Amino acid sequence: MARLQSNFNFISSYCEPTFNVEKYQSSKTGMKLYHIKLPLPLIKLEICVQTKPYDDTGCAHTLEHLIFMGSRQYPQQGYLDYISAQYYSLGTNATTYRDMTTYELTTVNHQSLLKLLPIYLDHILNPLLTNDCYLTEVHHISGETGDDAGVVYSEIQSSENQPDEILLYSVLRDLWSDKSPYYYESGGRLEAIRNELTLDKIKLFHQKYYVPNNLAIILCGGGIQIDEILGVLSKFEDENCSQLENRHRISLDYSLNENLRKKMKFNNDKFPFIKIKRASLDENSLSSEKNADSNPIDTTKLSVHLTTTGTTTDGNDSSFCDSELMVSHEDLSAPSSPTTLWSTIEVDTSINHRHMNEYKEIFYPVEDNDENLGQVAFGYRLESIYEMEIYTALDVLLTTLFDEDISIFYKEFMEIPNTLCSSIDHDWFNYPERVLVVVFEGVEVDNLTMVADKYSSVLYSIIDCQRDNDQLYTQLRRNIKKKIDLHLNEIENEPYGFLIDLCCLDHVSELSVPKTNNENDDEQQLHKFLQNKKYLESLFEQPIAYWHELIKKYLLEWPSTKRTVILLKPNSDLLIEQQEQDEQRISERFVSLGSDGLQRLKTELEQARLNNKQSTSQCATISHPLLSFDNQLHLPPIEYDTNGKHLDLFHSPNSHFLKYTLHIPIKQLASDLQLYLPLFTNLLFHTAIRYDNVQLDKYHFCELISRDILDYSVSNGQSSSSPIQSSYIHGHYLDIFIVSLQSLNNFEMCKNTMDYFRYALFGSVFDDYKIILEECEKQLKNFIEVLQDGQTVHQAYFNSLIHSTNTESYYHQMNMFLQKNLLEKICKHPNKYQNEIISKLKQIQKFIWKNLSQIHLTVCGNVELIKDNRQIIEQFIKECHAKSQVDIESSANKDTKGKHIQTVSPAAIIGSPHEESGYVIRWTRLAISQADFIPLMIFCNYLDMENGPLWTACRTNGYAYGVAFDFDFESNVILLSINQCSQLNLAYSSAMEALKNIVEHKIKLDPERILAARNLTICMFTEHLATLGRVTGVCIRSYLNKYSIEKYQDLLHDINLYNYNETVFLELIEKYLQPLIDNTRSSTLVLVNTNKMKETQAYLQNEHDIKTVTAIKDVVKAICR
Ligand SMILES: [Zn+2]
Repeated sequence: MARLQSNFNFISSYCEPTFNVEKYQSSKTGMKLYHIKLPLPLIKLEICVQTKPYDDTGCAHTLEHLIFMGSRQYPQQGYLDYISAQYYSLGTNATTYRDMTTYELTTVNHQSLLKLLPIYLDHILNPLLTNDCYLTEVHHISGETGDDAGVVYSEIQSSENQPDEILLYSVLRDLWSDKSPYYYESGGRLEAIRNELTLDKIKLFHQKYYVPNNLAIILCGGGIQIDEILGVLSKFEDENCSQLENRHRISLDYSLNENLRKKMKFNNDKFPFIKIKRASLDENSLSSEKNADSNPIDTTKLSVHLTTTGTTTDGNDSSFCDSELMVSHEDLSAPSSPTTLWSTIEVDTSINHRHMNEYKEIFYPVEDNDENLGQVAFGYRLESIYEMEIYTALDVLLTTLFDEDISIFYKEFMEIPNTLCSSIDHDWFNYPERVLVVVFEGVEVDNLTMVADKYSSVLYSIIDCQRDNDQLYTQLRRNIKKKIDLHLNEIENEPYGFLIDLCCLDHVSELSVPKTNNENDDEQQLHKFLQNKKYLESLFEQPIAYWHELIKKYLLEWPSTKRTVILLKPNSDLLIEQQEQDEQRISERFVSLGSDGLQRLKTELEQARLNNKQSTSQCATISHPLLSFDNQLHLPPIEYDTNGKHLDLFHSPNSHFLKYTLHIPIKQLASDLQLYLPLFTNLLFHTAIRYDNVQLDKYHFCELISRDILDYSVSNGQSSSSPIQSSYIHGHYLDIFIVSLQSLNNFEMCKNTMDYFRYALFGSVFDDYKIILEECEKQLKNFIEVLQDGQTVHQAYFNSLIHSTNTESYYHQMNMFLQKNLLEKICKHPNKYQNEIISKLKQIQKFIWKNLSQIHLTVCGNVELIKDNRQIIEQFIKECHAKSQVDIESSANKDTKGKHIQTVSPAAIIGSPHEESGYVIRWTRLAISQADFIPLMIFCNYLDMENGPLWTACRTNGYAYGVAFDFDFESNVILLSINQCSQLNLAYSSAMEALKNIVEHKIKLDPERILAARNLTICMFTEHLATLGRVTGVCIRSYLNKYSIEKYQDLLHDINLYNYNETVFLELIEKYLQPLIDNTRSSTLVLVNTNKMKETQAYLQNEHDIKTVTAIKDVVKAICR
């Protein structure tokens, strides 16, 4: 096999009918290459570097940002993005995880890949890492305000206060000691970025980790010639030989010198906003807790003491293995396979009803109000990553216990009066020892301890056989089968992400976990990760006792050093404290720097910006050969067949599944009913059924759906977006009710699926008010949590403004502010509204029946099999038509239209206490002509592509993390969006100035870059169609959208033929850009921290001459008034 003229040796391969993976390694540098062969049109490249932080400065993350800002061979800043767009690639992207950083590239052909790979590698291995880039892209102190800023700084500002981030950080910090990388935040924490991070630290970090033997290249997709790739890589290695070897040596010498950690390190309990106290239960309270539910633990008995993290022996860091793992190697070498686990069960007749008896309280900052909710998290650091049997079994178990609304935990925590939480999730983190986190969200603060106690008491009740074990066993076996199907479905629909992630995992695990003596390990580890099905199938054999033992060993009695329970509580004092500290810090800084110091910072930053822009402008001067795009995309094969009006069939011969999607137009639903439509939508498939002679209670109906249906969804309008719609506009076609079911492709399933449509549409019963109330409580808690996120509030309010001008719009009644208000009303006075709600739901149901005459069904998948049985489907459609004969009182259509939001003021500012970062959307409405569609799309991509005019204005200057220019063809909106900015005023001014300069022809259009934007657009469209799952999405939407699957092909063709024409672009600017910069024709919506509202208002009025600026402190009240 190893017959190639290259430095690379073949290591192993893995084959399946639909894909195959080959692994190579360079004998010269140790660099790895994974080649995933897939018969799909797109090529994805991912370069995975193991990066392990040793503090909270975010070296890994900041380095990720700086990698793109010039390399030894290509010092021009932004050249990589510039050339990749030219070569039909999407802009590069990268992600920093806790222990690795991945660099991505997506392209449409092999030739592009050959050209781009060595350029990318030069950036990764030989970056310039200049101080100019550090100042703008990472962190600087503003000479104007003394405030902290920079792209990475803004990015972290937007997430550091988020409860989810705080929770995960706290869990991991509890599971690992400070000797381990998992203890730290790889993204960086604000305080550490401000005080400890330096460019030299980042350079050292690069020297340690960015070495070839720590790096893997993963290629996935069709048309890759592996010999040519290996040739390119070998050439790169040879050319960079001395440099790379030298680096390798440095890396080996390098050990974690304490000096590097800088002694300013935080002490343990000082990380921002989090007060740690370890609460442990009083011994006495543990004695008799058979009935923990009825007798929640008295929180006043909690005693508080601090514990120190465990000590670890000296780490030998000369290799990439974790010192901690070295220590625990003995544990790893004695893995528990399912059989040994089963056979070693000791018969324990007196299971000790012990709770996980130490809870740790963590606080997150909130505004002072009464609707704050907390969370409870259980964190476990489990077996080695290679223990696939245990992982697979636990995953099935947890899905069964938590995920479905017929699960034991759903019943115990949510199917009760005053629901205890809004959701229960479990998440896996693929670290060398796999981490499991179980989170209860939306828990009232007074219930946190009770939820934590109840978690273990419910688990004990299962292994004590106090529950119906047959039911659990049936559910477990059903979920094993379902996971096998879901795995098949994932490989079929979205193989790129899944397979690339596994290769990254293989690479990093191999470096992290000490090798065992087994010679064949190398070859088998990757296989282990890929053989999901084998592990699942073996679980069918396991008796109920096996599952009980899993619960006991891993969830209840796992060693206390490797697990934690966190209660996350809201705390308003923290927010005030934090704001005071920020103000104090800045004012102290002002004094200590003095006007000279500030002036010096200002000059330094201005010079840096100038240098950066100068460097960027050089990109076009490098000559490069042109590549052409082969327009013959090998899209997943789909054949189209239609049955006239009501039925579209999209046939893909390779699929194992069928997806049925019903569209029911429900135009002219009275607006008082529209308000209840989301509740109706959420209840469908969650109610009892009465249809003909079928009678099912909620449990049995859900059980059937879980058994036969792989995936289902009910929605108002279309939820996923496409390149022809703007992702900033939420919800298109909201007046269409959509129900979608996916099942395995066979005759019996087809029959059952049609029955489930019948049951849900014709037979849903809304008389059980208990179920309705539970749903309301759950949804309300969701809204409360979601509305704490500034970006969500900003976008939701923007959409309310957009849609409120249209009285027909469904969005208005269904927007989350009105919905939250409604649910609050219901939950406060449930009895008062009972009759009204049930009546509204029934009216909606009847209205849908009435409209069944216009039903449309799209079936995607291997329809060959059902072709002979088409009458099953046609029979159903016939029944729908018959059902539409129902009478509805047309007088019910009294139009009680909701009050519309006033749009008189051209600008509004929303204040959010939780959001440190700022967000802007500026938009205008105008008719977008079909003829302008292609050039406008290219123009948009030109404006906001990496290092394009807007990017330069906002990001290169270090003002904001993101900027976008977008249009929505269907709602006729043109918009500018700036997100995550620490210096909103500067970002906004700078972006507006860039747009003005374009309108006034002060900035010349750059034909080269426009060509690059065209090629990028081609790749964007190809990506939209690159997998069977995505093509299926387009097929389903082709009933709604103008662009069917064939038209996309034409569109792609037209874009490829599009040649830049200056006159056309000048017209575009006049038509679409000019109105956006005109204050009388456009509107602005800003979200900032509540403290910054005043200054932002003054800024908009003075600098932009916007006469009326409305300040909104409480969005929900403003809309619901
Ligand atoms: Zn970032």
